[in-house]
Amino acid sequence: MRRFNPWLILLLVLGLYLVFANNPVGARPEIDYTTFKNLVSEGRVESVFLSGGNATVTLKEAQNVDVVGRDAPVSSQTFTTRLLSNPATPDNSLIQQLQASGVRVRQQAQSIWPQILFNFLPLLLFVGLFYFIFMRAQGGQSGVMQFGQSRAKRYGKENRVNTTFGDVAGHEEAKRELIEVVDFLKNPQKYVNIGAEIPKGVLLVGPPGTGKTLLARAVAGEADVPFFTVSASEFMEMFVGVGASRVRTLFEDARKAAPAIIFIDEIDSIGRKRGAGIGGGHDEREQTLNQILSEMDGFDKSTSVIIMAATNRPDILDPALLRPGRFDRQVTIDLPNMKEREAILKVHMRNKPLSTSVNVDELSKSTPYFSGADLKNLVNEAALEAARVNKAQIDMSDFYRALDKITLGLENGSLTVTPDERRAIAYHEAGHAVTAAVTPGADKLQKVSIIPRGRALGAAFYLPEEQVLVSRERLENQLVVSLGGRAAEEVFIGQVTTGAADDFRKSTNMARRMVLEWGMGDTFQHQALTTDNGPVFLGEDMAQRKEFSEHTARLVDEDVKRILDRAYARAKQLVTEYAGAMHEVADALLTSELITGDVVREAVSKARREPSANPAD
Ligand code: ADP
Ligand code: MG
Ligand code: ZN
Repeated sequence: MRRFNPWLILLLVLGLYLVFANNPVGARPEIDYTTFKNLVSEGRVESVFLSGGNATVTLKEAQNVDVVGRDAPVSSQTFTTRLLSNPATPDNSLIQQLQASGVRVRQQAQSIWPQILFNFLPLLLFVGLFYFIFMRAQGGQSGVMQFGQSRAKRYGKENRVNTTFGDVAGHEEAKRELIEVVDFLKNPQKYVNIGAEIPKGVLLVGPPGTGKTLLARAVAGEADVPFFTVSASEFMEMFVGVGASRVRTLFEDARKAAPAIIFIDEIDSIGRKRGAGIGGGHDEREQTLNQILSEMDGFDKSTSVIIMAATNRPDILDPALLRPGRFDRQVTIDLPNMKEREAILKVHMRNKPLSTSVNVDELSKSTPYFSGADLKNLVNEAALEAARVNKAQIDMSDFYRALDKITLGLENGSLTVTPDERRAIAYHEAGHAVTAAVTPGADKLQKVSIIPRGRALGAAFYLPEEQVLVSRERLENQLVVSLGGRAAEEVFIGQVTTGAADDFRKSTNMARRMVLEWGMGDTFQHQALTTDNGPVFLGEDMAQRKEFSEHTARLVDEDVKRILDRAYARAKQLVTEYAGAMHEVADALLTSELITGDVVREAVSKARREPSANPAD
């Protein structure tokens, strides 16, 4: 928007006025009033042209006259002079005198505007000032009005979203649920006739990147009803009450457009439990939430507006949001399983040139715990890898490189490692690899590398079997594998390094959970020692955090230590027992930096065949 500065304009007008109002016309020599009067009374003046406060005097013939601002008289036929009287009404005696002396008098056609402007300028300035202030106030006002407007985007028949359920792979249950919701809106009579109540709210719950927003877009694309979408954070503004008023307008708009769907993304940003947090909560957020609650209650059964919302933190949502009559339906969108990953990969490979070497099944196996967004990223990274070397098609090696990049970070070429360090890293990784290969029930080893990437100096990759229930034995095996790195350092390098910090963090964490949550400690065998669900927010339940006595805490620590010690002893025993395989794997790593799980398994089975040939170091 263009903005004029009223002050500038006023100044300009004033300046122009001053310049033109008093400008003596032309560059004629100026004579003073007395000289002019004398010339008139001497009868030498032919004519006078009155213009504003000036007069142009034409003599009967040129002659020398004293001129203002010059020492010597100037010879000319025309002069100017300033009249003493008010320019608008030249004094009558002058006119009479001129007429009496037979001087022809003309007056310039007067514009009265400069006069008016001149007289009213101060008033104008005031009016302008007030107008300016008033506009400012108005501007602020209309800003507030805009605040109250909901920021929701509306999709309808005119601007249909072109995402469909076909773009969402997997999530069959969620899709079925949402298709039903769309059907409610299209054919409400069917449900009303049988006495069913149309649900009011559907909450999509799941980890980030699993496709919640995508599903909502698909609903918008599939439903033949207006779809209002807004991110919850867009309700929030600096001023208390704005969010609430936005919610109000949003629901009003939807009600007018009914049947309609409202989608509130990331609802946890306002739907957090009220009263949580230090300082008595957040007024604006609470008011906004309250408004949503009351709007949802405000719908009567016949209003066909359905509210969808998405969150990855259902645990922190205010219970009032989740009770029946509000978001009474919860659709869980979980991380995809292997089959679903395959489907998602296929969705994102749809429009990309792929070589026949690409094995989607293999890729979906290699991407445990990847979300839909991660998989999309993987396909894109692979395409980038291919493009970088000007390939016409993406092949499997591009996918592997992309996978390494994503799981490990970029190769860290600038990191210089001394030969000794490299040897230590190789044995450390060999320790993980060999313990994984020889422990039945451990995750299957996929590959091992000692290429520094990101912060990691080396890494071993596994293909974890996805399980819902994990046995104690499996957990213990995982501990052995993750401590295998340090055990190998101790046995083969004779010196321990800082390289195992991450392994320790992970394994200690797991051991603690085994004791605290899963009843797998020696002392606590059927008892959970934590009762909280989910992370605790500042100020909330802070007092309740300590759930057990000092004495219990000590017992827990002892249990954790015992679990870790046992795992470490086992790891040490394994790397010693398979010393031959350890040397072989470490050598292979030192020569080729990256080896597959098969190389490790081969080395292990060779060591099993000829155990005597492999004495410990
Ligand atoms: P969320 O809202 O759950 O955090 P998004 O819906 O924003 O996740 O997902 C991010 C992107 O990941 C989507 O745009 C989509 O490209 C991809 N994606 C996620 N899940 C799926 C899926 N099930 N099928 C296809 N693509 C998916
Ligand atoms: Mg989202
Ligand atoms: Zn390690």
